[in-house]
Amino acid sequence: MSDKKRNNKIIYSFKCPSCQEGTINIIKSIYDLPDGDKILILKFECNICNFHKNDVIPLTTNMEAGIMTLQITNEEDLKSKIYRSPVGKLEIPELDLIVEPGPRADFYYTNVEGILYRFESAVSIYRNNLEKNDPEISEIEELLENLQKAKDGRFKFTLVITDPQGGSYIIPQNKSKYTFKKIEKKDLE
Ligand SMILES: [Zn+2]
Repeated sequence: MSDKKRNNKIIYSFKCPSCQEGTINIIKSIYDLPDGDKILILKFECNICNFHKNDVIPLTTNMEAGIMTLQITNEEDLKSKIYRSPVGKLEIPELDLIVEPGPRADFYYTNVEGILYRFESAVSIYRNNLEKNDPEISEIEELLENLQKAKDGRFKFTLVITDPQGGSYIIPQNKSKYTFKKIEKKDLE
């Protein structure tokens, strides 16, 4: 593919989770394939240690500003890939879980299961800091139970990403469970 037209762009940088010193730049490259299709390659590379990762995404994937909705009803759906850009808001309405956009919000490049794990770990920490007689405990324990069911594919839920700039995406395992609603520029003004 090296002789094809490419277009490299650093889309995001964050501190390396492996060496804690280097900076990881996410480099986005778009390749034009001979058949007219395009693919996107995301390359994660640390400038100090050898942490690196590549991912290839077909560009039939939407990169427009919009609201992406994925229905998760079984274990297979948990493998759907998710990328939440720093300006994207991620929500699971059935569980009242939200990741607000922001430069310091956790960086999410994972699959649905990975997102459930991160929510579970955050909720568990919260749970462990509550006093024994806190009335909130039963509610939090119910949430943890539902997160566990969700990880096993036994809890149906919706994952919604709202991205006003169009850097986030969902690659569904089952396309019929995915919908995309474009945000028009005039809606943002
Ligand atoms: Zn590193």
